[in-house]
Amino acid sequence: MSSNGSVIFPGATLGVLGSGQLGRMFAIAARRLGYRVHVYSPDTDTPAGQVGDVEFTAPYEDLDRVTAFARGVDVVTFEFENVPSATSRACAEIVPVRPDGEVLHITQQRLREKTFLESNGFPVTPFRRILSLADLEAAARDLGLPAVLKTASFGYDGKGQRKVLSAAELPEAFAGLKGAEGIYEAFVDFEKEVSVVAARTADGGFEAFPVFENIHANHILDITFAPAAISPELEIRARELARGILDSLKVVGLLTVEMFVTRDGRLLVNELAPRTHNSGHLTLDACVTCQFEQQVRAVCGLPLGSTELLRPAAMANLLGDLWEDGLPHWPGALADPQVKLHLYGKAAPRAGRKMGHFNATGATPGEAVQRVRNARSALRRLIA
Ligand code: AMP
Repeated sequence: MSSNGSVIFPGATLGVLGSGQLGRMFAIAARRLGYRVHVYSPDTDTPAGQVGDVEFTAPYEDLDRVTAFARGVDVVTFEFENVPSATSRACAEIVPVRPDGEVLHITQQRLREKTFLESNGFPVTPFRRILSLADLEAAARDLGLPAVLKTASFGYDGKGQRKVLSAAELPEAFAGLKGAEGIYEAFVDFEKEVSVVAARTADGGFEAFPVFENIHANHILDITFAPAAISPELEIRARELARGILDSLKVVGLLTVEMFVTRDGRLLVNELAPRTHNSGHLTLDACVTCQFEQQVRAVCGLPLGSTELLRPAAMANLLGDLWEDGLPHWPGALADPQVKLHLYGKAAPRAGRKMGHFNATGATPGEAVQRVRNARSALRRLIA
């Protein structure tokens, strides 16, 4: 066993629950630091499995397989939070799980998450639990309209949510929940969306990355840039807010805080993710330590790396839609030597599916954004 006390030394084996692109980039960072990586998910030939040492393919509910997976690793972490509690509990009986099952439990359900945040004094938009149409009508009366109605569980990238504009839409919006528990959130007329990716170690070490500014298209992250176009004072407040949340959840590992900046300069927490985040991908090419290496360090009990942003930077997501007219024109996009391509090894390019991203740096965030946008536009030039 290559560990000493609570520190897990390079050479040890790290287990990842989930096998998408976040797991892939975690595995690459872990291997660079000399670790081995085992990946567990219901799928085969996955983005993470392709670069991990061992790919376990079994349902999350198959606790015998989960136990076998846990026996082969020195620590378990996540790249996907919608793993059943029983799965992380089964792992925790054998090895440390970081962040622990309690953090996972709170962050995998919007109602629990918002209730935790509100009761610990962190700012969130007013919300209500929705189990019936009467609950929904009462929430609309109390909190007003417009609002956003979301399923309490298993929602991401705008899935399972809709904006409700008028009382006349309430019955149809309720029907859209299809019997699932819902959460009614007062609509936030935000100026911008930002995120803070932060890491915390078991001995209380903490590092937050600079605040990222996020631009969405069709509810999916489209562009991130850093530094965010916010005041230095707001930058500090956002990072302190993240610190407060990681401390009160006693996170060991990495956690992302998505926030709204309101038009009157307040921060409201939208969502927590107990893992690395799409908005942190620019750290791969623009920070001293990338978010994936930071996750490795945090879960292994190593000192955290510097989160310094070396140059203004931007990231543009590449969705499967870019493949609909044929193979994207990679040479055209990479004609700008400053543009870095990251692809996730996914075979089937479905619409809306995250296939990869471009990163670039620039003299200003605007210049970096222009670079990744131009590169993405160049992909559309068809190969003759
Ligand atoms: P979520 O799945 O909660 O991260 O929401 C996806 C996106 O929907 C967010 O990034 C926002 O752009 C938007 N959104 C979510 N909740 C609200 C809200 N309460 N008010 C306004 N926009 C929202």
